[in-house]
Amino acid sequence: MDVRIRDNHSRPGRCEPPPSMSPAYTPPPVQPARRRWLQQLPYLSLALFLIAIAALVWLTREYDDEAQRTTLISDVLWMEQNLRFNLDRNEIHLQEIGAELFRGAPLAPQTEARLASLMMPDRGLARILWLAPDGRVLGAMPPLSAAPSTADASADATPTPVDEASFRLARGIGRAVYGPARPAPGGVHHFEVHVPAWSDDAQLGVVVGVYSLSDLVMRELPWWFSERYHVSVLDSDGRELAVKSKVAPLSPRLSYSIPFDPPGHGLTLQISAYRSDPRWIPVLLGASIVLLAGIIVWSVMQLRRQLTRRQQAEVALRAESVFRKAMEDSMLTGMRARDLEGRLTYVNSAFCRMTGFSADELLGKKAPMPYWDPEHLEQTFELHRQIMTAGSATEGTEVRLRRKNGETLDVLVFEAPLIDAAGHHTGWMGSVLDITEQKRAREQARQQEERLQQSSRLITMGEMASTLAHELNQPLAAIASYTSGCINRLQGEDALDRRELLDIHQRIARQAQRAGEIIRRVHDFVRRSEPKRAPLDLNAVIRDAIGLIEADARKRRMQLRSELAADLPQVVADAVMIEQIAVNLVRNAMDSMRDTPAETRIVDVRTALEGRHVTVTVADRGAGIPADTAARLFEPFFTTKQEGMGMGLNICRSIAELHHGRLAFESRPGGGTIFTLSLPVDADLA
Ligand code: ADP
Repeated sequence: MDVRIRDNHSRPGRCEPPPSMSPAYTPPPVQPARRRWLQQLPYLSLALFLIAIAALVWLTREYDDEAQRTTLISDVLWMEQNLRFNLDRNEIHLQEIGAELFRGAPLAPQTEARLASLMMPDRGLARILWLAPDGRVLGAMPPLSAAPSTADASADATPTPVDEASFRLARGIGRAVYGPARPAPGGVHHFEVHVPAWSDDAQLGVVVGVYSLSDLVMRELPWWFSERYHVSVLDSDGRELAVKSKVAPLSPRLSYSIPFDPPGHGLTLQISAYRSDPRWIPVLLGASIVLLAGIIVWSVMQLRRQLTRRQQAEVALRAESVFRKAMEDSMLTGMRARDLEGRLTYVNSAFCRMTGFSADELLGKKAPMPYWDPEHLEQTFELHRQIMTAGSATEGTEVRLRRKNGETLDVLVFEAPLIDAAGHHTGWMGSVLDITEQKRAREQARQQEERLQQSSRLITMGEMASTLAHELNQPLAAIASYTSGCINRLQGEDALDRRELLDIHQRIARQAQRAGEIIRRVHDFVRRSEPKRAPLDLNAVIRDAIGLIEADARKRRMQLRSELAADLPQVVADAVMIEQIAVNLVRNAMDSMRDTPAETRIVDVRTALEGRHVTVTVADRGAGIPADTAARLFEPFFTTKQEGMGMGLNICRSIAELHHGRLAFESRPGGGTIFTLSLPVDADLA
């Protein structure tokens, strides 16, 4: 598996649980008409309740009024009876006393006594007159000339003391006749009762009892009656002739009229009840019912408002969840959430598309996941464990997965902790990017680059062949000229001495050696064997390389220092090639320090683990690399040395790239250069 640290994308953040973990609540559908009814029901029942209460109050009042009315009527009837009884009694007494009155003056003391008793104030009579059949007034009590009584101050001032029509009628029919109410001086009204007096069969005259209406009403009624009722006597035109009242408002509803007969003649007795004090308990009761009804209406309205708000929130929530779902479905990035035990709690549709598994197949699954690549199970497990224990890698991680249909895919995973509303860490949310295509494109580009390099090497070889021909030309020409010179001498007369021959042959040999050297160098370059990769201990390789050069370094009075990291992971590489790089770098370092003072001629070789790479650094205190040299350093045949070939660094870089590694250089602070070879620890080089 190819696992590389990519990007710092995983920061603790507060995450809402994804929608599928807490699906939005959808209330059961309610028919709109039914819902309207349900909403109106509290108002309806409240209105009915109020109507019932109002009806109850009204009925109670009506019942009360009815009871009062009944009492009023019975009181009125009682009063009427009382008045009638009084009038009848007076009538009888006037009839009885009639015969005695017409016996002539002076009146017998007994008669006077009876008259006096009739004139008692409780009888209601203001005056008694007895008239002869021709209408003459024979006598009166109190006498007409006498001082008027208190009740009727102007009785004697009346020109006709009695009502003639009534007088005649009484005489005519021989029975008591009541006269109409007549105004009397002082603003009062009187009425008369004309009672014919008989002696045996002869009519003696008429006894007239004059009643004062107001006295009758005032005196005849008991005190409790006038406390309760306003009593008035009205004439046929509705004018008030006498009244018994106290200063108090009247009840408009409780009033009763009956004809005042006797005396009749259109007189009416009207009795009205005083307005009673308001009764507080029903008022308070009514007020509290209204208040409670108001509170109920208010609370029902509040409840409805709450309900409406809740419904609006629900609608908004549903819209939000639909929006989120659409957003999730449209996303190309796979999302998956896991709880702290590593169980899958959520996957989005992009993740399902990516892996080929449905959400049902994935949710609730624990490691090893069905989409893990069985060939890299161990490494994936290790990565999973890292996330579950120490949290996610601080950067995105590249992982190889396997689809349900068996295809492999490379993904880049970014993990972030899931923090719930209470701030608790509840799991991990991962976003997964499919980078299979990118990786494939990258690999293709690399291969193309390699091919390009190969072809450029071939071109270079062509160029080199011509250079070679040119270079070989020199020694070969020299050899040819030495040999032809030698042959000439051997064919000539001059004898060649041994020393001369040796010298010529030595020259020929040198030229041949030079030619051989040129060919060897070319051979070395052209020979491009495929690397033999195997897991190797880099430290051991470096130690071997140092061992190879140590003798040379000593000869050149240079020091080699190594600092090799313990527990360096193994790398899969070709040991010979890596050694070749190390030797080359150390040799270059030594070459660069030719002019360096002896005490600082030190080459530092270090190995280290940096992330998922192991590095070998070779640092010198040489002259450094000027900018123009730096630009051409890795070009083939670029060299600044007289005996150099300029292929070392080029080959070293090719080897590094063959191992998916890098070869780089930088200036060393304080002078010199640092070359760094880095190789991936777990590169899949198969
Ligand atoms: P060669 O060693 O045959 O010249 P290389 O490819 O190994 O070929 O090196 C190319 C050139 O890079 C060298 O000639 C030298 O100028 C420069 N170079 C390489 N290593 C160093 C170093 N450590 N310090 C300074 N220059 C260097």
